[in-house]
Amino acid sequence: MDDLDTPVLDNHLHLDPEHGRGVDAVRDFARLGGTHLLVVNKPSWHLGIEPESGADFRPVFETTLDVVDAATDLLSGRAWPVLGVHPGLISRLVDERGFSPAAAAELMQAGLDCAAEYVADGDALALKSGRPHYDVSDAVWEASNDVMRHAFALGADHDCAVQLHTEAAEDLTEVADWAEERGLPAHQVVKHYAGGRLAGPTPSVMSEKDRLTTAAESGEPFLMETDFVDDPDRPGAVLGPKTVPRRVRWLLESGHEEAVERAHVTTPKQVYGIDTRATLSR
Ligand SMILES: [Zn+2]
Repeated sequence: MDDLDTPVLDNHLHLDPEHGRGVDAVRDFARLGGTHLLVVNKPSWHLGIEPESGADFRPVFETTLDVVDAATDLLSGRAWPVLGVHPGLISRLVDERGFSPAAAAELMQAGLDCAAEYVADGDALALKSGRPHYDVSDAVWEASNDVMRHAFALGADHDCAVQLHTEAAEDLTEVADWAEERGLPAHQVVKHYAGGRLAGPTPSVMSEKDRLTTAAESGEPFLMETDFVDDPDRPGAVLGPKTVPRRVRWLLESGHEEAVERAHVTTPKQVYGIDTRATLSR
């Protein structure tokens, strides 16, 4: 096992023990020096689930809780679940199942209510929401924003962060303002798949060297992620599970020790209230 002498957190990846590599991906991550993971549930339709109610999301969430437990057993730190409703679901509901945008939003909000119950019980760390990254009708866009604002209200109620899937952007201050209006601090809104610079939410930076260099040199809070999807049909779609520890090694060798501390210790503490150092067992 490589030891990078620092906690190493991948802030956003998926694990699919049934169809993908599952915990073998965690073994790869750990072998390279990775210590902590935030595991986000896969989109419900990837698991063959077509929800009719909020409770219908439970099997999606339970699958994630199970694989998080298995991952924690393999890590010197631990894994945590991030649960929510993928914003792309709205298009499946409207385009394929005949939902109105408002009815689709209602179902997705019920799914988020269900996810928030796991946060309330201490079984999940954070929520996941957002809006489509592709062009949609005005009605679908507004409904998606309503879903996202509902997630912010839940985050405020349960004092938990909300990870977002959104369009590519360097300024999401309007979205962060929506969170603040509902009582969720902007820094507890995390934009996943981010570039190295972002106004508003905390960026979870895709671990490519140019993006990381920008984030490291910004002096601003940031997180690192791969968005590994663990889908055998899309092997090259995203970065692999070894990427975050490899890039941490590269940052350390490039003199960015402070940025590594920021991304893997101080920002996780600010955003999620987790202590990546205290949860290291060896
Ligand atoms: Zn993802």
